[in-house]
Amino acid sequence: MRNILFKEELEQVIEDIFVSYVDQDGSSSREELYRDKPEDHFSISSAGKCFLEQSWKYINTTPTNKPDADGFKRMRDGTQMHEDLNKAIKWATAENFDNWNELYEKRTEKYVKLQDVPVHGHYDLALINHEKRHFLMVDFKTVSTWVWASVKKDPKRNHKMQVYTYALGLAEELKKQELKDYTFECFIFYINKNDIKFHVTHVQEDWEEMALSYWNNLVHFKDNENLDDIKYKHGSLAYIELLARYKSLEMNGMIGGVPFAAWECQYCDFQDMCPKKQEKPKPKRRRK
Ligand code: SF4
Repeated sequence: MRNILFKEELEQVIEDIFVSYVDQDGSSSREELYRDKPEDHFSISSAGKCFLEQSWKYINTTPTNKPDADGFKRMRDGTQMHEDLNKAIKWATAENFDNWNELYEKRTEKYVKLQDVPVHGHYDLALINHEKRHFLMVDFKTVSTWVWASVKKDPKRNHKMQVYTYALGLAEELKKQELKDYTFECFIFYINKNDIKFHVTHVQEDWEEMALSYWNNLVHFKDNENLDDIKYKHGSLAYIELLARYKSLEMNGMIGGVPFAAWECQYCDFQDMCPKKQEKPKPKRRRK
């Protein structure tokens, strides 16, 4: 009996320790990564997300919801794989392991930001061919088995916008270094978390315009909505009006969104204060 109890306690205590560690380690790594970087920017890694969630984050609203233990564990899994891949590429470059060194300048985990919209982030890998004035932007993505087949056929729209935003950022960065008029192509390097299989997809060029359109519409949303006013107005007219203004916003075939897809809400940091949340039905009065 004692052993059964200890087994449960062991599982719970180690999970609590691990999740708290991952939470604080993630925060300090982010702080380190964005030290001396502008604060009032959207993160490229959040491309494609709900306008309202993005805007509340932008104005530093305190989240009402944090990921659960399983969410933290999943995120850590992805972060570790990214770190390993980046370390492996740096190692290969230093050791002259592959013949890419002759073709490309390899850049990993570099900071970029766009000139005209407040968007910044760190890309995973860029392979720059200076002779051809051309670069390949590669974004690593870890995914679960149950989306593996679908992303192999067609990557998620968030991922496509993200990789193109990094590419636009690098093109601007190169211009600053007097390396003008570089063309580029974008790729997503998918990793199946379950069996660590790899799959690379080339992303169509029209996602460049989609990405820019998304960020411009998001900035328009942030600047024009009263973000403080709609907090906690659950199931209210404020949300219905908000939807009416943005649900119909056509962005190159994508319908604009608060949120874009229903599943976003269950991973959102602001679920409890979002006007989308339904008010609890009032308890029925008992008849006397
Ligand atoms: S709960 Fe849904 S609609 Fe509300 S901010 Fe979050 S993602 Fe957007």
